[in-house]
Amino acid sequence: MREQRTRINDSWIRVRLKLKSKLGENIYKNWIESLELVKIEKKSAVFNVSNSFIANWIDRNYREIIIETFKNEEIFIDEILFDYNSVNSPSFSNKENSYKIKDNKLSHLKHNLDNKNIELPSSPLDKRFTFDRFVVGKPNELAHAAAKRVSETGPVTFNPLFLYGGVGLGKTHLMHAIAWQIKKTNPLSRMLYLSAEQFMYRFVQALRFKDMYGFKEIFRSVDILMVDDVQFIAGKESTQDEFFHTFNALVEQGKQLVISGDRAPGEIDGLEDRIKSRLAWGLVVDLHPTDYELRLGILQSKVEIQSKLHPGININNGILEFLAHRISSNVRVLEGSLTRLFAYASLVGRPIDIDMAQECLADILRISERKVTIEEIIRKVADHYNLRMSDMISARRPRTISRPRQLAMFLAKNLTSKSLPEIGRRFGGRDHTTVIHAVKKIEELKNKDLQIAEEVEILRRMLEA
Ligand code: ADP
Ligand code: MG
Repeated sequence: MREQRTRINDSWIRVRLKLKSKLGENIYKNWIESLELVKIEKKSAVFNVSNSFIANWIDRNYREIIIETFKNEEIFIDEILFDYNSVNSPSFSNKENSYKIKDNKLSHLKHNLDNKNIELPSSPLDKRFTFDRFVVGKPNELAHAAAKRVSETGPVTFNPLFLYGGVGLGKTHLMHAIAWQIKKTNPLSRMLYLSAEQFMYRFVQALRFKDMYGFKEIFRSVDILMVDDVQFIAGKESTQDEFFHTFNALVEQGKQLVISGDRAPGEIDGLEDRIKSRLAWGLVVDLHPTDYELRLGILQSKVEIQSKLHPGININNGILEFLAHRISSNVRVLEGSLTRLFAYASLVGRPIDIDMAQECLADILRISERKVTIEEIIRKVADHYNLRMSDMISARRPRTISRPRQLAMFLAKNLTSKSLPEIGRRFGGRDHTTVIHAVKKIEELKNKDLQIAEEVEILRRMLEA
């Protein structure tokens, strides 16, 4: 008997060593090292562990490999059982039973279970997405301030923080920034960032491998949970259900949640009402589409990064202004265009000028091109020269009026697809030959008068912005 005991103990030492090399140092340290083999009896290995959570986790994840490794040692077992000190019914093997034990012990676990060691399935964070690199402007200042607040340690003031806005406006950037900041100031806090898609994936895996308990433990053990692009779970009922419970459990424990979506909670189709209302519980802030100033600011800050990558290549402010005017609100596209421009310039070894920008970004610029109307042209030109709209279509001929009028016709010809007779009609019922004359006149002037050329350019940019 004694002999057999020694034999078993020896083999457990060898099994542990093998498990260490099979599972890796981390898993071994977290789960296997503290396992104490009590006995092997009737094809069952009985281990002593400190609580049912660990028992359950090991049973779910490592049972097979443990049994297999014992087999290699010529010890044949069918199951592993656990004995955890303070529990009356000491071991379990059958699933039904084990769930019962766990459920009865839930409140007990809440206090005794040291779940701080569970590794969190956080998604990788982008190194560039920090607060330092987030350019603040009117459209995003509230979202930025709220994100900053959440990243500060201290009591939770609003829960959840719900960030929403269109594609490429900085939702993910802000969430990563929160994560980086928390890692820096509070490295021990358990922070979990993942996309709603990842959340669903984990959930489905847990269902598949019958590990809902492990799933719940992980998601309920965090101090701050961030779920990106929550609209993804719209229409996915059981995932929503689980999300709802996770959400409630964390809020109840006073843990911080940060959620993002592509629109306001109430507007996400296919999301249950109870979830919509939960999401709106705390602070809901939107990232507005970028405006010209913010785009220019972002471009200026990204230029610094590009200049480091492509030393010797410069870009002047005029071109940044042009890009800020012409490229739509999506910051990702804005960033991409700058990257492309720098790469192009360093490839062809030419300085960046407006022609290069237009050539190299033709596809992007075309997409963002707005349809300009003759109305708008007339209004803008009138404004610019301090004239009334009625002057532009009147028959009056003084140079101070007729020149701007010609310019407006020129722009109408160049920026819209309207025919010459149509343009003539819109300018007070003039003949199409008048329009032809105006277009020729302005082309001529542009070539010899720099100031006119510049004014045409300014007006064109304003109209296309
Ligand atoms: P979203 O998640 O809203 O679709 P992202 O956070 O992924 O958008 O942002 C898209 C890109 O634009 C990222 O590279 C991000 O760094 C950048 N970006 C967005 N807003 C800003 C900003 N205010 N300052 C600097 N970069 C920004
Ligand atoms: Mg995103």
